[in-house]
Amino acid sequence: MAAFTALSLTVAVVPLTHMSLATGVVAVAANLIGGLAPDIDQPTAKLWHYIPVGSVIGRLIDPFLGGHRTISHSIIGVILFGFLAKLFLETISSVLLVNIVIVWWAFMIGFISHLIMDLFTHEGEPLLFPLHFHFGIPPIKALRIKTGGFAEKIFVFPGLIIITGFIYYLQYTKFIDFLKHFIGK
Ligand SMILES: [Zn+2]
Repeated sequence: MAAFTALSLTVAVVPLTHMSLATGVVAVAANLIGGLAPDIDQPTAKLWHYIPVGSVIGRLIDPFLGGHRTISHSIIGVILFGFLAKLFLETISSVLLVNIVIVWWAFMIGFISHLIMDLFTHEGEPLLFPLHFHFGIPPIKALRIKTGGFAEKIFVFPGLIIITGFIYYLQYTKFIDFLKHFIGK
């Protein structure tokens, strides 16, 4: 949800320059994957459930990634995943005719928004991995949110939906123009 809010915010601020509908659709998918990707280090990760025998693979690679919130929740992780995503997109760019720069940014916005959200949780995250120190906002652990807890369900999730709704409300004409552009053809 945070990934989509961040993407919507970006789209609202940045002009939609001659983007094809295919690019738009793929970018939203990439944004979703980017938002789930950091939790690839948990065997219970949602992303794995979308892949057949995914939970088995998750458990197999778990020891290498070192359990919950390690390298994928760090600055090195951002660079590594960013690089891998770029490599992947360049490889498929001959088959999939979309603007890979936009798709890449959508993925990264999803990825980074996940890391920002996790900063507010109890566990924090090891931004300077391989150093084990966990960062969080606020720095006092007791004041942070418990993942899947009461505060997340009552405030964070509805809050993000309201923000996203508000972005679309403010930028209504811009999105309508964008859609008209395709329907009109
Ligand atoms: Zn996470």
